[in-house]
Amino acid sequence: MRLRLDRCSLLDQVRVGESLSGMTAKWTSRVALAGLLMVASVAALALPAGANWTGTTYDYGTCSSMNRGDSSPHSFYYSKLSSPVKNAADATRQRLSYTDLATKSHSTQYATTDVVIIDKYYVSYCDVDWFDGVSGATGHERCNALTSTGKCETADVRISMYFVDLLPTSYEHSLLCHEIGHSIGLTHTSDTTSCLKPSTYSSVTYSTHDIGHINANF
Ligand SMILES: [Zn+2]
Repeated sequence: MRLRLDRCSLLDQVRVGESLSGMTAKWTSRVALAGLLMVASVAALALPAGANWTGTTYDYGTCSSMNRGDSSPHSFYYSKLSSPVKNAADATRQRLSYTDLATKSHSTQYATTDVVIIDKYYVSYCDVDWFDGVSGATGHERCNALTSTGKCETADVRISMYFVDLLPTSYEHSLLCHEIGHSIGLTHTSDTTSCLKPSTYSSVTYSTHDIGHINANF
């Protein structure tokens, strides 16, 4: 049996200072940019540090729902990805290779493909405005179908190409690590060593705590 999830999952957002309005060239100064980033409000900020695992099912409320992945290997389909996004996804899978969760890629999309990654110049999706060089959602993960035991059969990860064009490579790696982490079952954390810390892009990898959850569940 499959259940359909109509609500969108957690949106990950960034707000950049007004001085960046209209700027399209890719930034190379991480230090300068870091000073301009502010954390956008997201639903999971009230989670205590360390409690960043969904269990079997997890509900963030309106427009927000995520569930742990149903199987290992965690399978991917790249939907005609740009090379920066593909590289960032591959980097995350490389990091996962050191955990108990294996990954593999599908050359076509199946109903049971665990993660379908899509990158676009989104203007709006899931009832929110996407990153336009100033503010808005930069990434998104949504579980689209559940198994009979409430785990996620297949999920979409959506990436804003405006964000990819503007921000340094490390931000792309952090964002893919973050959204793929949601597809596994990881929720937000305040731990700065984890890419699941929302909106800061301070880490490109999973924390020791995150990996503990992954290894305990796969
Ligand atoms: Zn998130």
